[in-house]
Amino acid sequence: MRGRQWRIVPHPGPIHGEQRTGGKSGAVRAAIFGVNDGLVSNLSLIFGVAASGVDRQIIVVAGIAGLLAGAFSMAAGEYVSVRVQREVFERLIHLEAHEIGTEPEAERAELAEIYRRKGLSDDLARQVSEQLMRDPATALDTHAREELGLDPDEGLGSPVAAASASFVMFSIGAFVPLIPFLFGEGGGAVAISAVLSGIALASVGAAMSILTGRNPFFSGARMLLIGAAAATITYLVGKALDVTVGA
Ligand SMILES: [Zn+2]
Repeated sequence: MRGRQWRIVPHPGPIHGEQRTGGKSGAVRAAIFGVNDGLVSNLSLIFGVAASGVDRQIIVVAGIAGLLAGAFSMAAGEYVSVRVQREVFERLIHLEAHEIGTEPEAERAELAEIYRRKGLSDDLARQVSEQLMRDPATALDTHAREELGLDPDEGLGSPVAAASASFVMFSIGAFVPLIPFLFGEGGGAVAISAVLSGIALASVGAAMSILTGRNPFFSGARMLLIGAAAATITYLVGKALDVTVGA
């Protein structure tokens, strides 16, 4: 069925899926989102912990744990997602090859129908499908593209590489809000962390405009607002918990 194909192609994985397809722009996108995830999640975590008034060491331990936990979780999600995507891909190609081998006429008719729907005349659609079905490799390639919406040349990338990239990108983002607490503490460290993270958030947001084609200032401001909102909420929760627990 032709109507199905778009569901298979553009979204290979559930959450972390955006990364792989699309070669270079896919890698850029993965990097930007990885950094962004790390930033927002660890900024929120660190601000929540810091607001509760604990010692610097506890903030640092929480920040490092948050960095590692998030990075491992991202890497695991990415690994599974790429693997599953590849297995689905291979299975579909395998099934299609089987069908072409066992029911060549039905498969040819299927192809002709696809070309008819694209606007070719009945005769022409039949001719095209007959010629494409002559060579088994061409037949399979054509079915993969036209029927399944898969690109056999694309290459799905290695799950380990995708997982490692996610791990590194998340860690970079997550490290930013932690930096000031490695050297100082108290309100000063919180303020510096907020400023550093704000700059990083705005930069990541602006970098997203490479993908969206939107105004970089708008994208930067939007990302800054989202990150600030998340950090503010956890900060307030941390403060509230400090009052209740510490009383
Ligand atoms: Zn087919």
